[in-house]
Amino acid sequence: MARSHSKVRDDTTSSRSRLIIGLIVLSLFLVLGLAWQALQAMRIHLETATGVLQDYGRLAADEYVRRAMGEVGYYGYYAYGNLLRQQASRAARFPFELDEPPADSPAARARRLARYVFFYDGEADELSFAGGPAPDAEVVSALHVLADEFSRGPLPETGFEIIHSMIDRTGRTFVLTRGDDDARAIGFEVDRSALGRLLGETFDKGSLLPASLADGAVTNDYVYLRFADQSDHVLFETGGRYDPYLIVANPIGDDYNGIFQRHTVSAAIDPDIADMLVIGGLPRSRLPLLVVVLIVTVGLLGMAIRQLQRERAVVRMRTNFVSEVSHELRTPLTQIRIFAETLLFDRVRSPDDRHRALEVINRESQRLIHLVENVLQFANGGGSKRRMRTECQMLGPVVERVIDEFRSLAGQTGASIVYDLAHDAAAQVDADAVRQILVNLLDNAVKYGPTGQTIRIEVISGPGHIHLMVADEGPGIPRAERERIWSGYYRLERERRSAIAGTGIGLAVVRELAALQGGRSWVENGDGRGARFVVEFPSVGGGNAAPVKSSAAPIPRLPGEPG
Ligand code: ADP
Repeated sequence: MARSHSKVRDDTTSSRSRLIIGLIVLSLFLVLGLAWQALQAMRIHLETATGVLQDYGRLAADEYVRRAMGEVGYYGYYAYGNLLRQQASRAARFPFELDEPPADSPAARARRLARYVFFYDGEADELSFAGGPAPDAEVVSALHVLADEFSRGPLPETGFEIIHSMIDRTGRTFVLTRGDDDARAIGFEVDRSALGRLLGETFDKGSLLPASLADGAVTNDYVYLRFADQSDHVLFETGGRYDPYLIVANPIGDDYNGIFQRHTVSAAIDPDIADMLVIGGLPRSRLPLLVVVLIVTVGLLGMAIRQLQRERAVVRMRTNFVSEVSHELRTPLTQIRIFAETLLFDRVRSPDDRHRALEVINRESQRLIHLVENVLQFANGGGSKRRMRTECQMLGPVVERVIDEFRSLAGQTGASIVYDLAHDAAAQVDADAVRQILVNLLDNAVKYGPTGQTIRIEVISGPGHIHLMVADEGPGIPRAERERIWSGYYRLERERRSAIAGTGIGLAVVRELAALQGGRSWVENGDGRGARFVVEFPSVGGGNAAPVKSSAAPIPRLPGEPG
């Protein structure tokens, strides 16, 4: 009946735990779902913001190319090219002396773009140089071919041809022109460092983005720009590098007579200005935060599940405890009843039998009292409600009295008790509590030790403390369990399988009572086999006088008693 009750209770507890675990797992999925949603929202926001910034980057790049074409093409290549063409039309022969344009004139600025000037006489098939150091042979021969083709082909509408070529893995730009009906070509190679400087000046000339944007706050300081030629050689680049995902690269086509054909302009807008251009700015990655939230959630889930498991274990232990207590109560009560009836109905044959019957009644009632004391102590919640009546006293006599009282109980298994008590060991203790401690330890020693063993009890006085020790010859306590046995309801696995009855609260009560008197308790290996339980009390003064030694012979078992 009791079993089926506890089974029903177990089932209820486990289905409740399952429900709670189910709810927790559900909330984990909810958190996962929310995290996924947040990530998606962030991704979309990031894409939008990046898209807007890239559009502005493209706008800045287009505007820059437009300005650079004017500065480099119109005021640069064409300006100087025209000057050369005019001189060439006037010249009777090639090469001729170059007129240097007046300093500070626009033509002089354009002139700086020419590394050297070349003359090609198609009829004589002659190439000559002026106005700068002549190029090396490889360039000369390449230029020869280019100039020859140009002098023979139709003249472009603009009067110029701009050729971007790769010679010896270096990008080179040549500007070629000629008179309308002339087979002679004249031109120059572009000086790339001068071109770079001009591109820089062009960048500095004014904001690339419209002033209407963010009230003119988006100046060129927030624009990154990189201008590279056909060999990807960087002709001009602003300071600062931006995340590659913000950079847009625009290859330049053949507009304006191909001034920057196959060149590339890359641009990006500083993400710092993003919140002026996009509502909400560029979102920061929330991934680390979400990962932390997930880890914490999983951690909490784990903790909750562990807590539930512990709760279930406690419920199980409590259920066992109740049945163990009932069982332990029934055994002495049955004995008391049997021997009381024997006396009551005068079934004793001799005064010895009567004495033995009374002894059993006395011993079993002691055991009952002891059990009830333990349960009460334990149920009172750590003894917080029990008031210690401590007084300074010698521990030896207290211990000796308990041993005397305990003899009849120990006698059940024919155990002998030897003791060695420092009779000067004085401590501030509650004699009843010490009694309960010692009885619990002795009870265990008898219960778990073998028949006919010797139980050693010692009171040792040390510096500042007194040790009360109980050693038996039982199986001892495995090292890993030496701390756990002190918790309430806890019994070793081997006991659950053995027939040795117990409630699992004896040692918890020992520890509580020791702590209430300012002491502590632990277990260690006995001298040979077995366990040695030690309770330490703080000592009060006291010396190291010779201990009182005594011993007790094995106590004979009473006839008719259970073993
Ligand atoms: P109980 O003895 O009622 O089971 P205790 O709290 O007194 O509960 O002891 C807890 C557990 O510690 C016991 O179940 C037993 O497994 C182990 N134990 C206690 N004392 C001894 C001992 N002297 N020798 C071996 N094992 C012991």
